[in-house]
Amino acid sequence: MNYISTRGAGAGERHTFSDILLGGLAKDGGLYLPADYPRVSADELARWRTLSYADLAFEILSKFSDDIPAEDLRALTRRTYTAQTYCHVRDDDASGALATQITPLKTLGVENGATLSLLELSNGPTLAFKDMAMQLLGNLFEYTLAKHGETLNILGATSGDTGSAAEYAMRGKQGVRVFMLSPHLKMSAFQTAQMYSLQDPNIFNVAVEGVFDDCQDIVKAVSNDHAFKAQYKIGTVNSINWARVVAQVVYYFKGYFAATQSNDERVSFAVPSGNFGNVCAGHIARMMGLPIEKLVVATNENDVLDEFFRTGIYRVRKAAETYHTSSPSMDISKASNFERFVFDLLGRDPARVLQLFRDVEEKGGFDLAASGDFARVQQFGFVSGRSSHADRVDAIRDVFERYDTMIDTHTADGLKVAREHLQPGIPMVVLETAQPIKFGETIREALLREPERPAAFAGLEALPQRFEILPADVQRVKDFVAAHTGD
Ligand SMILES: *Cc1c(COP(=O)(O)O)cnc(C)c1O
Repeated sequence: MNYISTRGAGAGERHTFSDILLGGLAKDGGLYLPADYPRVSADELARWRTLSYADLAFEILSKFSDDIPAEDLRALTRRTYTAQTYCHVRDDDASGALATQITPLKTLGVENGATLSLLELSNGPTLAFKDMAMQLLGNLFEYTLAKHGETLNILGATSGDTGSAAEYAMRGKQGVRVFMLSPHLKMSAFQTAQMYSLQDPNIFNVAVEGVFDDCQDIVKAVSNDHAFKAQYKIGTVNSINWARVVAQVVYYFKGYFAATQSNDERVSFAVPSGNFGNVCAGHIARMMGLPIEKLVVATNENDVLDEFFRTGIYRVRKAAETYHTSSPSMDISKASNFERFVFDLLGRDPARVLQLFRDVEEKGGFDLAASGDFARVQQFGFVSGRSSHADRVDAIRDVFERYDTMIDTHTADGLKVAREHLQPGIPMVVLETAQPIKFGETIREALLREPERPAAFAGLEALPQRFEILPADVQRVKDFVAAHTGD
């Protein structure tokens, strides 16, 4: 399997899965994609239907990472996708069959002739779907670093979900340290406790006296200091990482099998979207031959993607135009994985992708409305919609009353938009991206009660916390990293 950049540089070079695993952007600023998508045969699809999550992950990943010996990859997926790691299920599931599944499918009911269900992706250590890929990434990083005798210092900025998923994935991993910047006193008590209560010596929480943008600016400044970056082996785990995207392909297959009886059926997926990482994995599953009818892109008030799929205009937002919403993990100004889809939409023409994303940088966007390419969006199965805070509150209340199920604000965005795209006879699977406890304020507003708290998280906020407070100052952060890397 060879990987290429969406912007076409180094077209003659070979890049294996392991080559691109630890890096971010391609040299030309593009994103990596496989030179060809592997196709799944009817025989394979039939055989995969009954596999465990770990073994299904092995089958899918081995098509994309043929440079990792099969036995090693199988050991990695079996170590990653265990019932122990993904056991933070709701209390009412704890004794049932769901407790042993990694991504259980919960049927809500039939609406407009379509069976509506939730694919639970947030039963991992941090109660958000990012654990699904990040846990694998932790094991892949450790494996690859050990093989080459290398170390890596991950520097990141977080306002919540990504940072904690990265820390829980990398804790205790040989050869990896994590330096995670978060805005001091700006996260919820639950999210703060999730991160700061980690006592692992390779995890460093830095509470920056500033807002999330200050944290992100510091990470950018450090990454642009190439000498520092090389000396201290600084890396990232952001959402453009190819391994994260491909690990997410697995649950589209798992969800498809759970929602169908035979491989002749088709299924639609509704995906709460921000950086287009999650739904990009759905696109790849479809390109591999999984019978997906529609990929429903759901956004909140930050509707960059909905606007594109409705109009053909991609218009990135300025910081001041980016809303802080009650589904904060979807509050994005541009969608960092979107370029991968645009590459496929344009028939894999890197010169045009390069031009369009230059336009993004110079003019703030591009317009495909008039070009024949936009019409092809339908062939790729994409539709979209957006929701507001009031929509989320309504959806949370409705699902609780009608189906006795509590959903979080992001999943509520997905459900609201899913309902706008139901087709009789086609199951609609809404991806559940987080558990309600992470966004308790809106649950209290919608339901006038406390969110459900999985038993493993009782008393979390009272645990001792370990973090360092630093001013929003690049040099101070660099000094902190240097002092804790043993170089
Ligand atoms: C990250 C995240 C999203 C958005 O996923 P993308 O891959 O960025 O589109 C949605 N919901 C939750 C809870 C998240 O943490």
